[in-house]
Amino acid sequence: MKLSIEIKHSDGKDKLHLIDPTEAVQEFAVSAFFGYCREMNGEGTLVIQRERPKPDEKNTPRPEWYETGIKFKNGIPHYRTRYWCPNPNCNHSGNQYIGLHDKTTECHECYTVMEVNPATREVDENGIPKRDRFGNFFRAEKLAGVTVS
Ligand SMILES: [Zn+2]
Repeated sequence: MKLSIEIKHSDGKDKLHLIDPTEAVQEFAVSAFFGYCREMNGEGTLVIQRERPKPDEKNTPRPEWYETGIKFKNGIPHYRTRYWCPNPNCNHSGNQYIGLHDKTTECHECYTVMEVNPATREVDENGIPKRDRFGNFFRAEKLAGVTVS
């Protein structure tokens, strides 16, 4: 088992950074570090940062639609649509999944209805837009029903 301890001196504060220790080792290291700080600096602010191991990405597979950009709802494909809410009081952005012939989508936060456009100018033989480099089939950022002159 590996334990690394990083001690930083910055702004007059000592920082202890423990990487992947067990709880028991943390307790030991923290109390030892307290002793060290007292000796070196006397009483002072001590910042202790405990780092949780990051979840292993391989063990938590992403859902298939994360890669494909296509979610099936009742067997019907819905395509990833990136939206930027045009409501100035909202400005939320996110993903929606829409049917191929849907003309609008709505903001998850404020339900503003937006006009949907293909993410790229290219369309495949089935009429499905080619995905942009972020994996979106469609994009939406304008209020639906508003024509720009
Ligand atoms: Zn919104």
